[in-house]
Amino acid sequence: MKIIENKIKFCIKNLKSYEPVLFKGKYKLDANENSYDLPKLIKRKILKKILNIPVNRYPDPEARSLKKILSKKLKVKKDMIFIGNGSDEIIFYLAQSFLEKDDVVIIPVPTFEMYKIISKINAAQVIEIPLTKDFDIDDKNIIKYAKITKAKFIFIAYPNNPTGNCFSKDKILNIIKNTDAIVIIDEAYFEFSEKTFIKYLKKFKNLVILRTFSKAYSIAALRVGYMIANKEIVKILNKIKLPYNANSISQVFAKEVLLNEKYLKDNIKKIISEKEKLYEKIRKKFFVLKSDSNFLFLKVADIKKAKKIFQKNKISVRIFNSGYAKDFIRITIGKKEENRIILNALNKL
Ligand code: PMP
Repeated sequence: MKIIENKIKFCIKNLKSYEPVLFKGKYKLDANENSYDLPKLIKRKILKKILNIPVNRYPDPEARSLKKILSKKLKVKKDMIFIGNGSDEIIFYLAQSFLEKDDVVIIPVPTFEMYKIISKINAAQVIEIPLTKDFDIDDKNIIKYAKITKAKFIFIAYPNNPTGNCFSKDKILNIIKNTDAIVIIDEAYFEFSEKTFIKYLKKFKNLVILRTFSKAYSIAALRVGYMIANKEIVKILNKIKLPYNANSISQVFAKEVLLNEKYLKDNIKKIISEKEKLYEKIRKKFFVLKSDSNFLFLKVADIKKAKKIFQKNKISVRIFNSGYAKDFIRITIGKKEENRIILNALNKL
C-alpha cells in the first residue's frame, strides 16, 4: 500500500520482523532460559503478595523497592540502577537516547542479535568485528574502528551469546580505556560466570552494565532486566523511558526472587555441574567451547543432518545455518534427563 509505504522511516523499511523460534518440540533448549521453573515455595509466597496488589493502580514508575534491594545486594547507589521490561528494553532505550542517524555501533560477532537489530531500528550503522580464531574479542580492531568512526557504542556480551565464553578481561579493559565510546557490557549470564565489571564503574564513566532476571533467576516470562551505570546515564534513560515500563506483578516477582535467592542457588549449581558433565562428553566427538554460561556452543560436520535429528527427537536447539556461527549449534543446558536425550541425538551424528 503506497499510502503507508511512502511514510515509513527509511531505516525501518528494509528490516525484517524478528522471529523468535516458535517452540514445537518436547525439549526446549533453544533460548538459554533456566530449565528449572521457579520453585513452588517462592511462587506461593509471591501469589500471596500479588493478592494484595491494587491492580486498579499504575505500578511504581520508579520501581523503588526493587531498586533498594538491588542497591543493597550489588553495593551500588540506587541512582545508578535503571529497571527495564527485560534488558532488551534497556538496549532499546540506550539506542534511542544516544544514537543519531548514521552513528556507528561496534559489535563483536557472532553475538546476541538484538544489538544489531535495535541499532538499525535507530538508524545507526553497525560495524561487525569478527572474534579471533580462539573466540576471543579482537580488541585491537575494535579500538581501531571505534577511533576512525567515532563510534558511540561498543556492545560486549560477557559471557558472550552464542559462544558461551567470557572474553579476556584485559582486552575488554583495553577497549574501555582506549575509546570514547560507551562500552555496554551485557552480563545476562553473570550468575553462571560470576565474572563482572561492576567494580570498574567508578573508574570508567563510559561503562554500562546490563543484567537480567530471565536466565538464572527463572522469570523470563515476567520480563525484568536492569542496568547499572553512572547516574548521568541513568538520568538520560529516565528522560525517555515510558512511565510504567515495569508492571507491578513483575516488580513483585523480581523482588521476591532476590529475597529468596538461596532457594535458586541449588538449581544454578545443578545447571553448572550438568554443563561440565555434558561438555566432557561432547568434546570427545565434537569441537565444543568451554562455557561460562548455561549453554554450550559446538560445531557439527553436517548441520542439515543435525537439524533433522534434533527435529525427529523433538528437541529444540539453536541451529546456525549461516552467518558468523555457521555450522554451530547452541544448546541450553537442560535437566539431567534432557541432557541425556541431547547426547543420544548427538551420538547419531
Ligand atoms: N542479553 C543477552 C546476551 C541474551 O542472551 C539475552 C537473551 N537471549 C538478553 C540479553 C535478553 O534478556 P531479556 O530477557 O532481559 O530481554
